[in-house]
Amino acid sequence: MSEDDDIHLIPVTWIKQYHFCPRIIYYLGVLGYKERVTESMAEGRDLHIDEERRAKRRKTLAGERKELTRGFWSRVHIVSERLGLYGSIDEVVEVDDGLVVVENKFMKSSKKPHSAHIYQAIAYAMLVEEFFHKPVRKAVIRYVRDGRSFELRVTDDLKKHVLWTASKIRSIIEKEKLPRIMNRRRCRSCGFQRVCKDV
Ligand code: SF4
Repeated sequence: MSEDDDIHLIPVTWIKQYHFCPRIIYYLGVLGYKERVTESMAEGRDLHIDEERRAKRRKTLAGERKELTRGFWSRVHIVSERLGLYGSIDEVVEVDDGLVVVENKFMKSSKKPHSAHIYQAIAYAMLVEEFFHKPVRKAVIRYVRDGRSFELRVTDDLKKHVLWTASKIRSIIEKEKLPRIMNRRRCRSCGFQRVCKDV
């Protein structure tokens, strides 16, 4: 499915983009720009393949000792008409007391995960719950470059915030309204910097 096919279905990557900067949604959803493939993204793709191979061999959740893996699925593509979301989940792991979503980030970690990564992982957990008809009790965000993982509880509040984000995304697209700049410090690492200057 292409991102342009239908506004009522939003790619989960746009949930992440909205939390990085809502203006990106205007460029993607209203003006039709595509996300630029940067060198680090291309490198990340290669790392992704290596990581997927490693993940298939793992016997425990995210390679840590605590929880044995009972089932494993990688690159699971899910479309939910009910949630109005679709996306590809890096890893779904079954452990003794339920399912866990693992989202790999091919970058170094910060002290805590970025909110954009948190809401992306929670949106994937919502898709997985619907598809597998089983609760997802937690999500793991793994920063592959330094091997650090963060566990998140999948709470109702976080899920509500994902749906709120999706409604804000739809509103930007429907009203074709350019959002104001929220945080100029992010512009330095933004792939839309040039586009933004011209608007
Ligand atoms: S350049 Fe700055 S304001 Fe423009 S989309 Fe990127 S982060 Fe947002």
